[in-house]
Amino acid sequence: MTIFEKIIARQTPAKIIWEDDDAIAFHDVNPQAPVHVLIVPKRVVPRLTEATDSDSALLGKLLLVARDIAKKLDLSSGYRVVINSGPDAGESVPHLHVHLLGKRALAWPPG
Ligand code: AMP
Repeated sequence: MTIFEKIIARQTPAKIIWEDDDAIAFHDVNPQAPVHVLIVPKRVVPRLTEATDSDSALLGKLLLVARDIAKKLDLSSGYRVVINSGPDAGESVPHLHVHLLGKRALAWPPG
């Protein structure tokens, strides 16, 4: 069980800000920006590389949830949405998730 499955099962605490039957969103425990939220599907897809065409609705939903949370948290001057897939991207939890970062200027290219 990954840490995200434990959060979904309420076995590990998290600052949950949104949830429905398909996904959950909570604040990252090690924030890289003043706003750093993770949007996590409840069904385990290890990483984007392993997603299939049948996951298209779920993947689209994660982005629309990011949009809605950005609005709710007033990220009106911009925000970044990130998916780390695999070791070179720095993926550390093998359960697909979308990072939503905002409330500061974010450099490009990323490190
Ligand atoms: P990634 O490196 O893309 O796999 O992102 C995993 C993220 O999960 C990191 O930003 C971690 O800080 C975050 N994280 C790990 N454990 C927890 C936790 N218990 N609650 C909230 N966020 C967590």
